[in-house]
Amino acid sequence: MRTIRTIAELRAHLAAARGDGRSVGLVPTMGAFHAGHVALMHGARAQCDVVVVSLFVNPAQFNDPRDLERYPRTEAADAATAAETGVDVLFAPARDEIYPDGFATTVNVAGLSDVLEGEFRPRHFEGVCTVVAKLLNIVAPDVAFFGAKDAQQAVVVRRMARDLDMPVRIEVLPTVREPDGLALSSRNALLDPAERPRALALRAGLDAAERAVAAGERDPEAVRAAALAAMRERGVEPEYFALVHPDTLQAVPTVNGRTLAAVAARVGLVRLIDNTLLTTGAS
Ligand code: AMP
Repeated sequence: MRTIRTIAELRAHLAAARGDGRSVGLVPTMGAFHAGHVALMHGARAQCDVVVVSLFVNPAQFNDPRDLERYPRTEAADAATAAETGVDVLFAPARDEIYPDGFATTVNVAGLSDVLEGEFRPRHFEGVCTVVAKLLNIVAPDVAFFGAKDAQQAVVVRRMARDLDMPVRIEVLPTVREPDGLALSSRNALLDPAERPRALALRAGLDAAERAVAAGERDPEAVRAAALAAMRERGVEPEYFALVHPDTLQAVPTVNGRTLAAVAARVGLVRLIDNTLLTTGAS
């Protein structure tokens, strides 16, 4: 595996591969790799000839400067993990390589970016879309891999690629969890061990919603109430617990067909998100 830090070197490296007719897969990340990242790397390895993983803690998508400061940075361990997983290139640029002096352009997907996470993290998705658009232009992958854990991010990035005619397939792979159900996240490392049991409240809320729907409940308010009760039992009040259409992210009037249950909550100093797709027979 090669670690590459400049756009020019990466483009030269990939031009040679592409000239030989090889397909390229990109896994965009902010590092501090866990099994969720590794699953995306395996997905890319299975589908593409050349696998590029980008590692860039993107300041533009952080609303809270303390969150950016605290974000774990473990590049040496990440490089070892990527190499073991069969990644070909780790693209780990410096901040100035991505945002040089005079950088002035942003990409915004209106509407989809403003709900759920967007309400609590204004301009977060503008930061995400801008950096993902740049990475897609730099790497020009055939396929880019994202995790279902960040469900809204996947919806927003898909729409961006479609709206801007980006010649890339966006592949979304399932959320990887701890045995007790906690969704893996780089931020889990920042959880105080004493707070760890409370972090399970997110999964408990989603489980309660699933149970309510499986028992025949179709009223989103009733499903939501069951979820909130399960979270409160664990001493957590979410920032939001929403039942939305998985493509439009608009609140659903009834839980029918496919409904995305999405939750965000603070546990101590750490803000966590999770989601599940609720499905019913009727559509
Ligand atoms: P991050 O480094 O947190 O920006 O995440 C990089 C990619 O990994 C994103 O596409 C995330 O959705 C994905 N990801 C993060 N956590 C998980 C997880 N637990 N399971 C699957 N994918 C994940």
